[in-house]
Amino acid sequence: MPILRVALDLPLHRLFDYVSDEAGHGDVGLRVRVPFGRGERIGIIREVREDSDWPAEQLKPAIAILRDLPPLPEDFFRLCDFASTYYQAPIGEVILQALPVGLKRLAAPERRAGRRTAAVATVPAPELTGEQAAAIAAVSLGAGFAVHLLYGVTGSGKTEVYLRLIEKALAAGGQALVLVPEINLTPQLETRVRGRFPGAGVVALHSELAEAARERHWRAALEGEAQIVLGTRLAVFTPMPRLALMVVDEEHDASFKQQDGMRYSARDLAVFRARDLEIPVVLGSATPSLESWANAKSGRYQLLTLQERANAQATLPAVRLLDTRRMVLQEGISEPVLAAVAQRLERGEQSLVFLNRRGYAPVLACPACGWISHCRRCAANLVLHLADRRLRCHHCGFEVRVPKSCPTCGNQDIHPFGRGTQRLESWLQEHFPEARIVRVDRDSVKSRKQWEAMLERIHGGEADILVGTQMLAKGHDFPKLTLVGVLGADAALFAADWRAPERLFAQLMQVAGRAGRAELKGEVLVQTQYPDHPLYGALVAHDYPSYAATLLEEREQAGFPPYAYQAMLRAEAPDMADAIAFLTSARALPVAQEHSEIALYDPVPMHLSRLANLERGQLLAESPSRRALQTFLPQWRKAIEGIKAPAKLRWHLEVDPLEF
Ligand code: ADP
Ligand code: ZN
Ligand code: ZN
Repeated sequence: MPILRVALDLPLHRLFDYVSDEAGHGDVGLRVRVPFGRGERIGIIREVREDSDWPAEQLKPAIAILRDLPPLPEDFFRLCDFASTYYQAPIGEVILQALPVGLKRLAAPERRAGRRTAAVATVPAPELTGEQAAAIAAVSLGAGFAVHLLYGVTGSGKTEVYLRLIEKALAAGGQALVLVPEINLTPQLETRVRGRFPGAGVVALHSELAEAARERHWRAALEGEAQIVLGTRLAVFTPMPRLALMVVDEEHDASFKQQDGMRYSARDLAVFRARDLEIPVVLGSATPSLESWANAKSGRYQLLTLQERANAQATLPAVRLLDTRRMVLQEGISEPVLAAVAQRLERGEQSLVFLNRRGYAPVLACPACGWISHCRRCAANLVLHLADRRLRCHHCGFEVRVPKSCPTCGNQDIHPFGRGTQRLESWLQEHFPEARIVRVDRDSVKSRKQWEAMLERIHGGEADILVGTQMLAKGHDFPKLTLVGVLGADAALFAADWRAPERLFAQLMQVAGRAGRAELKGEVLVQTQYPDHPLYGALVAHDYPSYAATLLEEREQAGFPPYAYQAMLRAEAPDMADAIAFLTSARALPVAQEHSEIALYDPVPMHLSRLANLERGQLLAESPSRRALQTFLPQWRKAIEGIKAPAKLRWHLEVDPLEF
């Protein structure tokens, strides 16, 4: 009888064999119901074979092969196999996580027909700029694998380049996959794509979709009905039978990295997938990741540059640094910023005051006894949210009511320290009583609907001053926005995480890019105590390439990525001693001593050393050779699985970690 080799959603690095008399070789890639333990599960048929490594009498029969979907294509499995090997993730988990929830359920829910998305009017394409035309010409569809790094300043019209390339892919009968960091933040992009390709069955795939919609969209992609898929990181796994082009927009964005469960980089998987399918992939950014930039510099990626803003009247904003060491600040804001905001109010233009810290104040404290609002579950402070009178942990979600007096000494005079967007908003409102102020952060905008409504208000001219976090920094065009004031940026300059400056620069370039997107000239004022820092110098000059060169040189000297390859072993347990002891054992394993090209650092507590009542430690493995690291990791992982650890200890490996 045929043997089915089945992938199941289990944390084990293997497949499971069943017998089935109804199976044929064409059934690879179909879902199957199988008995498991005392229950049943849905798995994916990975192989149909004649023999098993297990004695035939031990194999259980599969219950039913589900034939309601076309089989998952072979290239989907190649992608999953690669992800499983590269990221040391159990193959069954990798395959099953790529499926919509509804398709993994034993009792399939009633399927309702989907709502048709309203037809949108076709939007004509603008005439291309010379730079855009050159970039488009450089990408040939149908000529095999290539990675193109589209480096274009904010407003240079990268999206138009994507749209024209998608058009070509569709004309040749192909499908296109566009990955974006957070789809909620970019409803404008979805509208633009739908407007350009009204008949292409554009579908979105992201986590905010209702389950049924997600399943419908995913099916449409698999069945080839949807020609364009627009999605967040998980969408990189979407099976698409005629995939001809991939685009990763804002390729530097950290949200392409999955930070829990299977820790993978969707951007890097997109590159693998393009190579595997022999198709082009376009990575776009105004501030590429240093990894991609180094690849472009070495010629592995092809660099396409857009230096000018696409709208001929729009120029890059003038960036000015305000040295706050010599200034009197009111509530953290300098006189020049206030004057510039006042001027915009007079002219009927919009200002954006950027502060990347939400809440009212980062901490509440008692000056009498020294009490501060600590999270009792994490090594972090509780943030004061005055809007709903809560103290809230931004790491674990724990929250309590704001106490009326100090919990330790009873002092009624407890103070907020530092400031966040809520405090800034209320102070600005007092200072500019006539101004209409809109605060945009994760507390004021919780859903896509709220976000769209807020964007509409801003576009409709119902806002004079925007106060916001990085949420506001991403790809929006506000034609009346002519001033961006940046507060509190210095904090990231000297952060413990050595990638912090790279992220800060990208963020500031992006937020500065909001000013002066249309005819009105934009101005950006950055408050800093370190005006001589090279990061700010590059920001003033709009010079990503020189700052990238500086950072790459530092990385090369320090032997950091992209000049080294890393993997992080993390352990968490109720006691730090247990976590560190486990990591120490992992470091002392014989296999860890045998690989001379691998350096293992000392186990240390993580920067956020306690999260939700668990103490966390980490151990960095590093090698100048990716191949050496990849050879080492599976052997190390197997050996680590053999370490006797306390029952409550959890561990994982993260390859190419982004956060420290
Ligand atoms: P980016 O993604 O590079 O920041 P966008 O693609 O959003 O830039 O384009 C910025 C603005 O320029 C948009 O309003 C867009 O409609 C406009 N635009 C793009 N290409 C052209 C063009 N060739 N001619 C005129 N306007 C353009
Ligand atoms: Zn006190
Ligand atoms: Zn907490």
